[in-house]
Amino acid sequence: GRNTLQIFTQDINQKLTQRVTLRNDLPEAILNEQFELHYQPLLTRAGNIHGFEALLRWNHPEKGLIPPDLFIPIAEETGQIIALGQWVIERAARDFLTLEPQLPPHCRMAVNLSPVQFHRPSFFNTLSNTLAATGLSASSLELELTEGILMNDTDAAIASLHGLRALGVSIAIDDFGTGFSSLSYLRHLPIDKIKIDRSFINSIASNSKDAAVVQGIVALAHHLELVVVAEGVETPQQQQQLAALNCDVFQGYLFARPMPFAALQTWLELHRQH
Ligand code: C2E
Ligand code: CA
Ligand code: CA
Ligand code: CA
Repeated sequence: GRNTLQIFTQDINQKLTQRVTLRNDLPEAILNEQFELHYQPLLTRAGNIHGFEALLRWNHPEKGLIPPDLFIPIAEETGQIIALGQWVIERAARDFLTLEPQLPPHCRMAVNLSPVQFHRPSFFNTLSNTLAATGLSASSLELELTEGILMNDTDAAIASLHGLRALGVSIAIDDFGTGFSSLSYLRHLPIDKIKIDRSFINSIASNSKDAAVVQGIVALAHHLELVVVAEGVETPQQQQQLAALNCDVFQGYLFARPMPFAALQTWLELHRQH
């Protein structure tokens, strides 16, 4: 009806205005380093620390903390994701090195990689230079990529993945299960880990079909010797069921929310006393 239409156009206008504002503010934000990383722990089934995922936030001077879904697509369109993504890797590397003395062995810092970053021919060299400059060991870094990176030039993407793994960096497929691809592509991929998308985890306790999907994914992934992460674990029921289905690693609000670096240091101290 008339009212609905009005609300609808208003909503679209608001979103457009917001997008334009963010787009205009982004160059300055990059110059003034208005960004911060929040870190979310990943835990093994036994409750030990497996690693952390770095999640980007924009601390806008007027609008406050802006979530990545609102500005990363813009930064990808404008190409600013290159500078931003580079900043993320450097910041995460330095923060990880600060924590490292307190961490159990084999912990990793995971960063999300935009397809725009991944497909740049210079990405490999930039990354290995960053590792050398920060002193982060390649085996402490994990790159999270979505299935979408394989969409265009699969052979080139697979070659790049081989190169990264030869460097010692590990690779996780993010949001697994939401992509277009068939499961069969998995066996061709030089990867270490899959992260089952939150949408499956959400309904696992209430929807037996989703539980069956997760069970199938875990069985297949283990057959291929991949580590399986369940993301977005929010309830003890989900945790129990995922443990019963043999998921290896858990991430979600049930254990810890993404938090600023200072809060992560406190969290680590408390976690170590357990
Ligand atoms: P993602 O990689 O799938 O990250 C997981 C998202 O789920 C994060 O949202 C996290 O805060 C949220 N989350 C974690 N546990 C739970 C839970 O138990 N329940 C619920 N409902 N949500 C949970 P966030 O931080 O808003 O990030 C959204 C997306 O933005 C990320 O999805 C990732 O695709 C992208 N992103 C974040 N940081 C970066 C970055 O540095 N570079 C790039 N290219 N993308 C990034
Ligand atoms: Ca991720
Ligand atoms: Ca994800
Ligand atoms: Ca996601």
